[in-house]
Amino acid sequence: MALPTISCPKCHQTSRQTKAGFTPAGSQRIKCAHCSCRYTPTPQEVGYDEEIRLQALHLRLDGFTLREIGRLLKINHQTIANWMHDYTAYLPPTLPESISDMARMDGLI
Ligand SMILES: [Zn+2]
Repeated sequence: MALPTISCPKCHQTSRQTKAGFTPAGSQRIKCAHCSCRYTPTPQEVGYDEEIRLQALHLRLDGFTLREIGRLLKINHQTIANWMHDYTAYLPPTLPESISDMARMDGLI
């Protein structure tokens, strides 16, 4: 996935801005190689907002398939699959069992 043009909030460089994992909420984090600061670009720059992600997660927990959720929310089901994959990495150890089972059933992990 190509990153939109982003600039470091500290040194304002636009080059060497690399992905540095995700926040617990699922937002992309960026690391600036010039000044070593880490930051999260505004949600508009990384795509869908948290509300839609959570809605997708809840629908998944209700038993909808990724394709059904994709149709309901008008989002590519592969995008939703990516979100689910992100959540399995960040949810606390008690919850994710069921979610990672689902992800496994969906062939994500
Ligand atoms: Zn910087």
